[in-house]
Amino acid sequence: MSKTMIKTKAYAAQSPQTDLAPWNFDRREVGPNDVQLDIAYCGVCHSDLHQIKNEWFPGIFPMVPGHEIVGRVVKVGSSVKNFKMGELAGVGCMVDSCKTCENCNEGLEQYCLHGSTQTYNGMGRDGLPTYGGYSKTIVVREDFVLHISEKLPLAAVAPLLCAGITTYSPLKFWNVGKGHKLAVLGLGGLGHMGVKFGVAFGAEVTVLSTSPSKEKAAKELGAHKFVVTSDAAQLDAVKGSFDFILDTVSADHDMNLYLSLLRTNGTQICVGVPSKPYVVHPFSLLGGRKSVAGSGIGGIAETQEMLDFCADKKIVSDIELIDIKDITASYQRMLKGDVKYRFVIDMSTL
Ligand code: NAP
Ligand code: ZN
Repeated sequence: MSKTMIKTKAYAAQSPQTDLAPWNFDRREVGPNDVQLDIAYCGVCHSDLHQIKNEWFPGIFPMVPGHEIVGRVVKVGSSVKNFKMGELAGVGCMVDSCKTCENCNEGLEQYCLHGSTQTYNGMGRDGLPTYGGYSKTIVVREDFVLHISEKLPLAAVAPLLCAGITTYSPLKFWNVGKGHKLAVLGLGGLGHMGVKFGVAFGAEVTVLSTSPSKEKAAKELGAHKFVVTSDAAQLDAVKGSFDFILDTVSADHDMNLYLSLLRTNGTQICVGVPSKPYVVHPFSLLGGRKSVAGSGIGGIAETQEMLDFCADKKIVSDIELIDIKDITASYQRMLKGDVKYRFVIDMSTL
């Protein structure tokens, strides 16, 4: 290792069988186009848990999760134009892309035709593994760093970098708003942001939840209606009624059941990523010309647009701040749906 590497304290999983524990590693020194942040807060996404447990694909270990990163800029490279020392900044789910393909040119870096570089559990374009935000500091190419408003509570902004953009982007793409009936399936980290954005865009929002205990909180988030999905009568009452279902569920679930809740021409937008493939019967689609669609995070320009929208409308995530030592217990609670609605790690506890 070169002497100029940046010594970094972190929490890592050494294998899918082990819990997260302290780990030190070296980050690259700040290059001409890089920005270094000292991380103040990092949100805990269900994707972190999927990946440390190898639920999607074999991961790169040791793995330092975390892609909802906010902090202050402590160093900028000589060619950096848009960031200054001391400024607040954020990093989301990706830290690089080719920046030349058709999708990158359209601001869709997340769909880079050569593969966007994930913030962690990915291979950087320098051939080295990437490590995420459960760490003290991060060095990222300027083009993938976001500006953060000083006006909002910083810890509650962190989840916007993944849960926020992942729900904002599809609602924008499908022009969900006034006159639409939107169902948000699953009231977790992504789901609660989906409710906030759906309401902000003028849609009538119904939460579809397995947790009856979340009704009051869902209404406080602005949801107009709440349906307990285990209650056949409640489900029956909303059959064929939604223009869109924003499906944020992290575990296996019966797609055909939820597709029956869409009206003709309705679309179920999948953002949740269970470990097993969906089973969709053609009858569930052709009976009402229905669509199953998917959406991945959002591009960098759109992420900045979402952050600016949130600063303007004073939208943040509802969070529970945790000590990094409690990360494993927090994952257990997240698995039980027992979080309102996002854990955020206070990085000063590392
Ligand atoms: P989360 O906070 O754990 O929320 C998931 C919610 O799904 C739970 O709160 C629960 O809500 C519901 N749920 C859980 N098990 C269920 C089941 N068996 N049947 C029906 N509903 C169930 O997770 P998250 O951080 O929001 O992430 C959600 C999913 O999105 C994860 O799979 C994650 O990897 C994925 N994700 C995708 C992207 C993307 O780019 N597309 C980005 C980030 C995350 P109720 O209690 O209300 O039922
Ligand atoms: Zn995430």
